Amino acid sequence: MENFLKITTFIKALYPGKAFIPLHEPSFFGNEKKYVLDTIETNFVSSVGAYVDRFEEMMRAYTGAKYAIAIVNGTSALHMSLMLAGVQQDDLVITQALSFIATCNAISYIGASPAFVDVDEERLGMSVASLAQFLSQVTLQNGIPIHIPSGKRIGACVPMHTFGMPVAIDEIIALCNQYNIPVIEDAAESLGTIYKGKHTGTYGLLGTYSFNGNKTITCGGGGIIVTDDEILAKRAKHLTTQAKVPHSWEFNHDAIGYNYRCPNLNAALACAQLEQLESIIENKRATSNIYEDFFRETPYKLLREPDNTRANYWLNAIFLQDRAERDAFLEFANKNGVMTRPIWTLMNKLPMFKDCYTQSLENSIKIENTLVNIPSSYREQGS
Ligand SMILES: *Cc1c(COP(=O)(O)O)cnc(C)c1O
Repeated sequence: MENFLKITTFIKALYPGKAFIPLHEPSFFGNEKKYVLDTIETNFVSSVGAYVDRFEEMMRAYTGAKYAIAIVNGTSALHMSLMLAGVQQDDLVITQALSFIATCNAISYIGASPAFVDVDEERLGMSVASLAQFLSQVTLQNGIPIHIPSGKRIGACVPMHTFGMPVAIDEIIALCNQYNIPVIEDAAESLGTIYKGKHTGTYGLLGTYSFNGNKTITCGGGGIIVTDDEILAKRAKHLTTQAKVPHSWEFNHDAIGYNYRCPNLNAALACAQLEQLESIIENKRATSNIYEDFFRETPYKLLREPDNTRANYWLNAIFLQDRAERDAFLEFANKNGVMTRPIWTLMNKLPMFKDCYTQSLENSIKIENTLVNIPSSYREQGS
């Protein structure tokens, strides 16, 4: 209790003047109002407009990807990417049991099912060792990766960069390449995280980002797909815009398309937020350093970036001793005006995914029992 009070008192001092400190709230201090108003004044609020193109161009420039496609949200970015990578009904898609539900939902939209591997204790993302163990049960038949125990085709592998901490994406891709398995990076939480000099999300065949309200930056709702593959990029744009054949007056469609467009209204907000992204990340990194100094004097370890990384520190996290202490802290902090949250319930425990193939999830279970997210918003007081 004494420790809990010390922690909540410290966090309240970091975010002064608030009756309740949220876990993560958006911060608008740039051209947000100007750009959004501009879409209204020009009547371009919907599915076409200059901000959509600018959003894509800014994301290309920022991530270093060759192509960026704006889309309505991160979940549809994942759905579309899985389709583009060739995932089919009844396939298995390798992913983490420790992730936000969107990853598994997107897999399910195709009629494929997730196969769960464990995560790394330091990175919270896909464990290379657990993946290797899973792949030892996969064989190539005429170049097609088949999971021997189930006889199912492996459609893709989707690692996720949890809370902005990068997975060892280079090692994951090297392993998957041996089995002809395309890798899609769920980089929804890692915008601004650089791993080994390259932006997370740009290592895989495709990468996806989210601009939901709780993310590092937001456009209300929105997403981006990145890829270096020109054919996939063109196909992504086509399929997310109802697969309409370009023509000035005729309505022709050559495939089953999706209305997954990012409205110009949201893209305008995204452009303004992207202009602030680096200063927001510097601010959040400074906050994590302050937390690090504080938690060093407590029994609780703070999640910190691995080597060769510039993490965005989207959400800071600490580790309690066990589930009982975790719950006691969550109860205490939330009652005392400091929002804290456990990590997601493991996907293999949810009714929709309880029968999915699962590797041993030792680390995932440990993290689920002990991790707590603590407030991590941009701080006005700055570094
Ligand atoms: C937020 C998030 C998404 C989905 O993004 P939306 O824009 O909310 O659809 C996908 N995956 C992960 C890991 C996320 O955290």
